[in-house]
Amino acid sequence: MATKWVYTFGNGKAEGRGEQKELLGGKGANLAEMARLGLPVPAGFTITTELCTEFYKRGKKLPGELTRQVEAALAFVEKAMSKKFGDPKDPLLLSCRSGARSSMPGMMETVLNIGLTSKTIPGIIAKTGNPRFVWDSYRRLMQMYSDVVMEKAAGIEPAEDMGVRRQLERELERVKQAKGCKNDTELTVDDLQALCEAYKQIIQRVLGKSFPDDPMEQLWGGTKAVFQSWNGKRAISYRRIEGIPGHWGTAVNVQAMVFGNMGTSSATGVAFTRNPATGENKFYGEWLINAQGEDVVAGIRTPSPLNEATRPEGNTEPSLEKAMPKVYKQLHAIRDKLDKHFRDMQDIEFTIEEGILYMLQTRTGKRTGPAAVGIAVDMVKSKLIKPEEAVMRVGAGQLDEVLHPVLDPNAEKAAKKLCTGLPAGPGGAAGQVVFTANDAVAWVQQGKQVILVREETNPEDVEGMRAALGILTARGGMTSHAALVARGWGKCCVVGAGDLHVDLAGRTIHMAGETVREGDWISLNGTRGNVYKGKLHMVPGAEDNPNFKQFMAMCDKLRKIGVRANADTPEDAAKARQFGAAGIGLFRTEHMFYGKGAEEPLFKLRKMIHAKSLDERKAALDDLFPHVKADIKATLEAMDGLPVTIRLLDPPLHEFVPQNEDERKRLAGSLGISLEELAKRADALNEVNPMMGHRGVRLGITYPEVSEMQIRAIFEAAAELIKAGRKAMPEIMIPVTCDPKELTNQKKIVERVHDEVAKKFGMKKVPYLFGTMIEIPRAALQAGKMAEVAEFFSFGTNDLTQMTFGFSRDDVGGFVPDYIKNGILPADPFQTLDQSGVGELMKIGIKRGRATRPGLKVGICGEHGGDLESVKFCHRVGMNYVSCSPYRVPIARLAAAKAAVEDTKAAKGKAGSGKKASAKKAPARKK
Ligand code: PEP
Ligand code: MG
Repeated sequence: MATKWVYTFGNGKAEGRGEQKELLGGKGANLAEMARLGLPVPAGFTITTELCTEFYKRGKKLPGELTRQVEAALAFVEKAMSKKFGDPKDPLLLSCRSGARSSMPGMMETVLNIGLTSKTIPGIIAKTGNPRFVWDSYRRLMQMYSDVVMEKAAGIEPAEDMGVRRQLERELERVKQAKGCKNDTELTVDDLQALCEAYKQIIQRVLGKSFPDDPMEQLWGGTKAVFQSWNGKRAISYRRIEGIPGHWGTAVNVQAMVFGNMGTSSATGVAFTRNPATGENKFYGEWLINAQGEDVVAGIRTPSPLNEATRPEGNTEPSLEKAMPKVYKQLHAIRDKLDKHFRDMQDIEFTIEEGILYMLQTRTGKRTGPAAVGIAVDMVKSKLIKPEEAVMRVGAGQLDEVLHPVLDPNAEKAAKKLCTGLPAGPGGAAGQVVFTANDAVAWVQQGKQVILVREETNPEDVEGMRAALGILTARGGMTSHAALVARGWGKCCVVGAGDLHVDLAGRTIHMAGETVREGDWISLNGTRGNVYKGKLHMVPGAEDNPNFKQFMAMCDKLRKIGVRANADTPEDAAKARQFGAAGIGLFRTEHMFYGKGAEEPLFKLRKMIHAKSLDERKAALDDLFPHVKADIKATLEAMDGLPVTIRLLDPPLHEFVPQNEDERKRLAGSLGISLEELAKRADALNEVNPMMGHRGVRLGITYPEVSEMQIRAIFEAAAELIKAGRKAMPEIMIPVTCDPKELTNQKKIVERVHDEVAKKFGMKKVPYLFGTMIEIPRAALQAGKMAEVAEFFSFGTNDLTQMTFGFSRDDVGGFVPDYIKNGILPADPFQTLDQSGVGELMKIGIKRGRATRPGLKVGICGEHGGDLESVKFCHRVGMNYVSCSPYRVPIARLAAAKAAVEDTKAAKGKAGSGKKASAKKAPARKK
């Protein structure tokens, strides 16, 4: 039997169904579904996506068998519409549209009004008594067809602005000017008829071919051109960005034309079954009287609101509700039916032809983050969907949007984009450009809003970064200092914008042929990585949004894996708890030496670093001790008994050497040494490869007294809290380890100091756990032995990625984009975990670790702990928890819930396929 390539719909019937999106494309499947629901859909047929594949297989030729199937389908449409295609008296006109599996808005081609020829035009004029409408429709057909079929599909690439469509548009403009008309609607019938004649000549002249005057030739031309538009430039780029596979192909939908431009009882509109910006359960949309669909979308005329309840401020156009109450009522009933049937917000297109309503399209509507969350929660409440489905519908980016003020999407569309970088810190920000951290602080003190622009940032910029509303850097990757810090604060940040040229001395930046000076306004979209000229309007985020809270509660019920936060201050700890963190997975001790209030401890740390003898160092450490203890105590207190993983000092010491002349003098004075001697000691700390140098546990091995001071601070802080009737659960974590003996070495100090502190406070035991980061490949391979000493592992996937790939985490901005562009890497491995490389090491680490210590607690504290796909991976490999910056905690909770739902689905799928379900229900391991 011949393959079925054509599926008809109309008259309350359809050969296809809504579930057949793969075969019929989204548009075709939903048209079939609407017809089945008995909605007024103009009859038509869908040529399948399989045929598209076949078309390309045959070298862009249609199989002969298709002719028979199309003719049969055409006869069905003619019967349903009581009109004949090509009939000189009352001709049926057709549209020809694309429709892939997932929507690719505006990326492929459409041809409308197919069937208008020298023979059918007089008949349709006589029938409608509306010659103006007919000539206008013919003009539109020629414009679209010559462009889409005769030029683009024929592979003609005209010079800039010399395409046939532009030449026809220019002719229209010329006629309008000659006649002194502002709008097309002011042209007379004679003007339009003459214009059509002129169009024919232009087409002949530009393309060397006459415009086809045969309806079937037009139909086949349109069909082939739509299939060809699947491989048009726009479509290919869009597919690459959206990750849509090229082999899917598009369907072609041929449908009877209905006209919204037949006079004042005709109209056309676009609507959403719920508000796509806010999620409010109100019918929302726009319509235009006496117009065709493209007029609404093109934004040439100001559309009218659908109803009074959603009338925008200042809009005085008549609503459909008032102007055509009967049609509005019918449309509203259809809206209710579609919203319930599809169990999701729909984006619909409709046309009213002389008072009769037709539905042209329905599809799942695109929505903002707050709307996505609001609709999901509301649909669960009204039992349209289950929590499992709600959780799968909201994307990580959408959830992020809920929490951060964002650029107004309309303002963003209209703005001039200056450059694109990596989306390092979420949300949006608009501010005046400053070039130094000091300026950022000073300008903010004067009440200004600033964006700090740097070539790259380093820890000394931290005050300026804190003060600025947003941060933009030319260099750096997703785990660069700026990105890490910004995300931790939930601050908008774009890094690694390679096209940005920062001229610090001249206080200017150059990008996209523009020069931006100090004090000029720019706007950042940190969720997408875009930089715009000017001050764009912002829309606020909503942490206390009740929908958000309910949605997160749904996620928590479903997820199996715990979520903690990376937090270094009591304020961050409080924020983390507010966002639902069940503990701190990484407290980076060194962060207490950055930023406001850190001057004193930093000075003391510097003294310690520049000490020459053990005694000198010990004296400095004694001085530092109260600061470290106070800081740790405040964070333990803020977490009120929830586990806090405190990591011992990690960075190479030279990072703390003062750069500023005054600071150096003060330090030298305090140490009683000359500036030269200080410089000598600082120089001795310099390393060629500091990231692989004297850092992490290596400091503790060389200077056990540095570890001891920190460990004592941890135990005393915990003991003091417990003695005061509070709770505290510290977990001591050793960074940058690669051998179990390093752990044994440090554990000895931990045990000794524990006993001393317990004795001092009259306690039997101060509760704690002892564990290690796994961030060097060797540590993962040695995990079996490491677990003999460590009670927990935390994967530091920033360093583990760096050391597995041999890519410097601070310099990837320079080359990783090329790796992605060339298809060598699917994504930035510092952003999304490299499951096949770094992930394999993690699996080995967990397996070997748990073989030694079955109860080994395992988490992750690299930046991947807040990335959707990476969190799912952590769930699958059986981790206890993920830890990420506070603002990403909700995303991690959502990702964990999605992972659990996917697990259950996969297990059910296996059971359903007759195979024994091997995916056991994952044990509860929230911690
Ligand atoms: C890591 O390496 O993944 C980590 C969390 O530590 P840091 O980013 O501080 O090196
Ligand atoms: Mg690390």
